[in-house]
Amino acid sequence: MANGKTILLIEDEPTMVLGLCDALGFEGYRTVSAGNGRQGVELARVEKPDLVLLDLTLPDTNGYEVCAQLRRISRTLPIMILSARSQDSDKIRGLDAGADDYVTKPFSVGELVARVRALLRRVERATSTPGLVRIGKADVNLAGHTVAVDGHEEALSSYEVALLGLLLERVGEAISRDEILDKVWGVQAINNRAVDNFIVKLRRKVEPSPDKPQHILTVYGHGYKLVL
Ligand code: CA
Repeated sequence: MANGKTILLIEDEPTMVLGLCDALGFEGYRTVSAGNGRQGVELARVEKPDLVLLDLTLPDTNGYEVCAQLRRISRTLPIMILSARSQDSDKIRGLDAGADDYVTKPFSVGELVARVRALLRRVERATSTPGLVRIGKADVNLAGHTVAVDGHEEALSSYEVALLGLLLERVGEAISRDEILDKVWGVQAINNRAVDNFIVKLRRKVEPSPDKPQHILTVYGHGYKLVL
């Protein structure tokens, strides 16, 4: 049964394209696919997909570049990178280029479909949260995926939006790393340290002095809490 969501697949391996289109189609998603980066960016413009699955090694360009181009088209479009590279530095590079999730090949189709569902749910939850919130000197726009400090605007990834959204729902309350992992990432795809890395990045965007945080506070041995 169709669920009204379109997924764009940018991938040059025909068997991978067939397998994924099949599995996603079975789950009710409409799929469109492109075998290279240029065509992928073109299709993203025309089809306005709800999510993009992006391979890193494409015949004409690399996935990081495509990711950056897609980000210029839409700040909020969820992008999931599919890659055979499993080095942490590649993941960080992908997330820095604006990707929202990173799946390492080989993966099970079931796992991928679950991650797609989780990412779409996260985006839906983020866009249904109140638009503008002020954290100290930062104006946070969760629906628009931006944060502005002194007129300087930066983009927030969908993980950062979900993480901030969770902290904002429970201002003043300590939230454990495990709960953050469960609510923000949904699957145990990454370790606890990733939560800390995301907190560091968020502090850089929100805190006046990220090394001496005044709003996103560490609760030692437990997790984090937000103080407005
Ligand atoms: Ca490839």
